[in-house]
Amino acid sequence: MSRRRQIYEGKAKILYEGPEPGTLIQYFKDDATAFNAQKRGTINGKGVLNNRISEHIFTALATIGVPTHFIRRINMREQLIRQVEIVPIEVVIRNVAAGSLSKRLGIEEGTQLPRTIIEYYYKDDALGDPLIADEHIACFGWASQDEMNDIADMAIRVNDFMCGMFAAIGIRLVDFKLEFGRVWDGDFARIILADEISPDGCRLWDMKSNEKLDKDRFRQDLGGEAEAYQEVARRLGLLPEDGEENAVLDLDTHRKKRGK
Ligand code: UDP
Repeated sequence: MSRRRQIYEGKAKILYEGPEPGTLIQYFKDDATAFNAQKRGTINGKGVLNNRISEHIFTALATIGVPTHFIRRINMREQLIRQVEIVPIEVVIRNVAAGSLSKRLGIEEGTQLPRTIIEYYYKDDALGDPLIADEHIACFGWASQDEMNDIADMAIRVNDFMCGMFAAIGIRLVDFKLEFGRVWDGDFARIILADEISPDGCRLWDMKSNEKLDKDRFRQDLGGEAEAYQEVARRLGLLPEDGEENAVLDLDTHRKKRGK
């Protein structure tokens, strides 16, 4: 039986009512989907790792002045967040050609882009999240021009910060997806970073070997996805060293056995 009211269930997360008005609890599942949910599976321990990785990145972003929905981590799979009105746009930031960009424009995967590209996709599962232009966003009122300026500015700041953070641990940030939301202060709406940042929504390649350390392992049936997510967490200093990499996951299994 659920202790709390469920607000929303997505592909990788569940949102529950939070303890105070204006807050939610974000629960990270092990479920993985790809190709607009045509491919489904689970990655053992993914939810625990993504909760930690996202906490780490959102906390770091807050220290450089990027406003986010993250308040605090509650336990292995849950974090307390601010409730936002999600802007129905997926913001993709690309440093290196890969995925749909390579396919659409015939640019070889791995090509360093001469400048960072920001793309917008309309969040609509039934339509398969189509690529859109600024014009569509303004025309259909999905966000105002001021909001889009804030979103683009924040996306670039997040990218600069994350490129450096990952480079320091031998990882190339190829591309990633961000989502933003509105919080209301009386009549005034402010844009803040929402959702999560984890290997589910980033392409992360080892700088030396080009090994993929992200959800492409699942998308492309490469295997070793749980290990790849653990490797990212380990390099970020979020897992115990000395062969104790599984301690975090073991703890989670232990909690589940106790029915918590
Ligand atoms: N991405 C995501 N959710 C989506 C689509 C893309 O998190 O619904 C991320 C994806 O993990 C990658 C980046 O956005 O890091 C760019 O994805 P792309 O457009 O290349 O699409 P894909 O090849 O993943 O279909």
